[in-house]
Amino acid sequence: MVIEQALSVMLLAASLLKGGMDVAMPDKNIDGTFFLINRSQMISEDYVPKTRITDLAGLSQSMREDAATALEEMFAAAKADGVRLATVSGYRSYSKQNTIYERKVASAGIEVADSYVALPGSSEHQLGLAMDVTKSTSSSLSSKFGTTTEGQWVAENAHLYGFIIRYQEGMEEITGYAYEPWHIRYIGKEYAKAVYKSGLPLDLYVSLHRMELYTYLVQQTNEVLP
Ligand SMILES: [Zn+2]
Repeated sequence: MVIEQALSVMLLAASLLKGGMDVAMPDKNIDGTFFLINRSQMISEDYVPKTRITDLAGLSQSMREDAATALEEMFAAAKADGVRLATVSGYRSYSKQNTIYERKVASAGIEVADSYVALPGSSEHQLGLAMDVTKSTSSSLSSKFGTTTEGQWVAENAHLYGFIIRYQEGMEEITGYAYEPWHIRYIGKEYAKAVYKSGLPLDLYVSLHRMELYTYLVQQTNEVLP
């Protein structure tokens, strides 16, 4: 796939543009679906989205209305394919995230905590747009989920319902997080399909778009490649 070859060019370009990327502003509408949140772009302690409890198998969790509806559609499609998924963790308030972060620092040290747990104010769970999912037979989250039938179904189909695997394998340096096949982020169907097709982590995709570099890089790569 050309896009896979384009990826290495883009990653190189991104490393050269690192300084610029840090100041690139993504979607400014926090209530939109394409809002970027990460370690360098954090949100206020006071931000509380309007959420509702999802009607799904697993632990009772809530999400924003648009994301909840999309996730219910996704779970129904999985079930139709014989794949049983369950919810583990959805919306989390700033203070809940703070508790989780501090607990992880105490039990595993700051380095491990920082690679798996978002600092309060930098979690997509506070946006109400992220859900941690797993097999319906388990409620623990592990990178092994990515190799299961359920995990593979999620990786191959989530974008059709507006979700992306936010922290991909091999992208740790860019996302700032370890591979999390269970953490899906709602960005809306159109964006999800485009981000999935690009193979890029959201941080990079958004930044390149902001700088209007994405189309340019794809064009350049297409010209160079045979
Ligand atoms: Zn998560």
